[in-house]
Amino acid sequence: VAGFSGIHLAKEISVTTKSAAAAARSTVYGYPRQGQGRELKKAIEGYWKGRVTADALTATAAELRRSNWRELADAGIDEVPTGDFSYYDHVLDTTVLVGAIPERHRAAVAADALDGYFAMARGTQEVAPLEMTKWFDTNYHYLVPELGPDTVFTANPAKQTAELTEALELGHTPRPVLVGPVTYLLLAKPAPGVAADFDPLTLLDRLLPVYAEILAALKAAGAEWVQLDEPALVQDRTPAELNAAARAYRELGALTDRPKLLVASYFDRLGEALSVLAKAPVDGLALDFTESAAANLDDLAAVGGLPGKRLVAGVVNGRNIWVNNLEKSLSTLGTLLGLADRVDVAASSSLLHVPLDAALERDIDPQILRWLAFARQKTTEIVTLAKGLAQGTAAIEGELSANRAALASRATSPITRDPAVRARSEAVTDADARRSQPYGQRTVAQRERLGLPFLPTTTIGSFPQTDELRVARADLRAGRIDTAGYEDRIRAEIAEVISFQEKTGVDVLVHGEPERNDMVQYFAEQLTGYLALRHGWVQSYGTRYVRPPVLAGDISRPEPMTVRWTTHAQSLTDRPVKGMLTGPVTMLAWSFVRDDQPLADTARQVALALRDEVNDLEAAGTAVIQVDEPALRETLPLRAADHADYLAWATEAFRVTTGGVAPGTQIHTHMCYAEFGDIVQAIDDLDADVISLEAARSHMQVAHELAAHGYPREAGPGVWDIHSPRVPSAEEAARLLRTGLKAIPAERLWVNPDCGLKTRGWAETRASLENLVAAARTVRGEL
Ligand code: GLN
Ligand code: ZN
Repeated sequence: VAGFSGIHLAKEISVTTKSAAAAARSTVYGYPRQGQGRELKKAIEGYWKGRVTADALTATAAELRRSNWRELADAGIDEVPTGDFSYYDHVLDTTVLVGAIPERHRAAVAADALDGYFAMARGTQEVAPLEMTKWFDTNYHYLVPELGPDTVFTANPAKQTAELTEALELGHTPRPVLVGPVTYLLLAKPAPGVAADFDPLTLLDRLLPVYAEILAALKAAGAEWVQLDEPALVQDRTPAELNAAARAYRELGALTDRPKLLVASYFDRLGEALSVLAKAPVDGLALDFTESAAANLDDLAAVGGLPGKRLVAGVVNGRNIWVNNLEKSLSTLGTLLGLADRVDVAASSSLLHVPLDAALERDIDPQILRWLAFARQKTTEIVTLAKGLAQGTAAIEGELSANRAALASRATSPITRDPAVRARSEAVTDADARRSQPYGQRTVAQRERLGLPFLPTTTIGSFPQTDELRVARADLRAGRIDTAGYEDRIRAEIAEVISFQEKTGVDVLVHGEPERNDMVQYFAEQLTGYLALRHGWVQSYGTRYVRPPVLAGDISRPEPMTVRWTTHAQSLTDRPVKGMLTGPVTMLAWSFVRDDQPLADTARQVALALRDEVNDLEAAGTAVIQVDEPALRETLPLRAADHADYLAWATEAFRVTTGGVAPGTQIHTHMCYAEFGDIVQAIDDLDADVISLEAARSHMQVAHELAAHGYPREAGPGVWDIHSPRVPSAEEAARLLRTGLKAIPAERLWVNPDCGLKTRGWAETRASLENLVAAARTVRGEL
């Protein structure tokens, strides 16, 4: 153990510490699912289309599991995860595991397990799917369990035991990974028809015996250890919830016929739940020791460590894409050695959240490439750290010096240190983040300039992304057309979108965003300091994978990004055309962010780059500019204690983006999902003039939430649910508007759909927008 850099190791190392170090093993909790050639996605989508048989799909899946385990084992991982594989989502797998199939899906599941599984995930003509929502603060989405007082759980361990058996037969040391019972219940919601205040946690006593049965089955199938994931315990939990966790692990721990239990948490510090789990009669804990959960270290010491238990230390960040600081991790591991019986090394969470392999990124400058670590590189880091822990730093000297060089190159690179960007960012004043007049005065200037009727109509930005547009982009990539040819097609599309809106009588027009592949990537590609990945796919949900760009360095905008499209659109009409940008918080939320400076600093750099765009749009005559922030709410930290800090820098970034325009320029913002009740103050702090929100499905609930909090500005609660191809009738939209008017006075109410129209077809778009305009006219007539 000699040679540790950790100061904590200066003290004499006890015999137990030495053996804990010597026994250090490496593991991960999960691995990217789809395969290097996107095999799983292709096989599943082929199966849905009837082109791939069920047998072929299961064979592809088995082959992927096999190759993932082989890859991990070949890299030197001692204990491989099983059961982390999924055809769609591991929470849905847990629903199947515990037999909590919703009533409406039971027939389909009974008829065919695989088709029934996909029916729960995606719905069918007849039945709605399970609701989907974000997995903690990641961009992965899980299917929400639906439970009620009548829910009966039954153990269905076949998938788990089969995958365990596969791994055993291949000669691996597997550890099944399951969503733990407390997290499963805390992630659930009341089933349709069940009282909204039903608390799924009341089902714990019914669920535990089923977990007991599953654990016994896994033991019988040869599991020495089983991992139960309890990430819900890193969130703020009530005393009752903490008691439930204590009870759950007291009972599961007391079972005699069970494997050893490893309870895992990640994404944040465990806080109060740490002492609960430390006291529980389980055999090990897996904790996150990355920056954002660093408090776990002191908290663990404060509860007296984990005597007699195994500690799996998540020191390699499982959700960012940066190389680890190996020396720092070794120092943390060294400290931990004194706190548990055995210390193993892992990524902080499943590697599901990172792309597979940085080495595939051939377009990235090799100087930058060595700063990046995706799943394969992280696996190597884990193995290296375990070796260093077991054998001393001398055994990994080569890796340590390469790591030191990579970190130094990143820290001193002109890409991560652009003096001009830094100087500008430091010089930002309060005045920069403030419009020159308060909302109440600006609105007078805006009314005069825009001359809009009451209940003005507008849309959220995008119009249908047609096949022609996709073909045009493919043609450009393949060199079948040149940039000029491509841009002609974009301009033609804009002309069509403008003429349609004029004809329909929309008041504030948009250009339709036909030039954008994606609302974040489009800007990332044009900003200096951002990297695009070619193979950096990560699972968003099911077979949907995204390639988030990387905020790699200091951010600046070499030239205008959207101005020519907006001005082209404006040249075709006398009505105002709204400029359309993605806001700084959303740019961060849907990218891989830097880990070498506070998020607030990155947000401010992005904000300043976007501010230039806002100012250029204004200078080009744009009277209305929308800055979308759909991610403002979803990026809220997991712990309430961290909310104020986040909201302060997030709203400041928005105000820096928009603070430079004249009072007569109207700033809009847009957010999608509902549940804004707890951030109305933050929405107000954005100091936007108009906000559009999703509201059609909830019957304008957000309008009432805004009103209840005294929100003083203009707002457009959506009156057309764009997630469905259904065309809302004019009467229906008018009814929603009348409901909206009960919360927001006519001079502040806008009329718009819930969100952008890029996923809709032209036929529905035409009919729906005509109805929307008709509804606005009808209700105006009633004022
Ligand atoms: N302006 C974007 C659009 O209309 C907004 C999308 C979003 O909110 N997710 O597509
Ligand atoms: Zn939206």
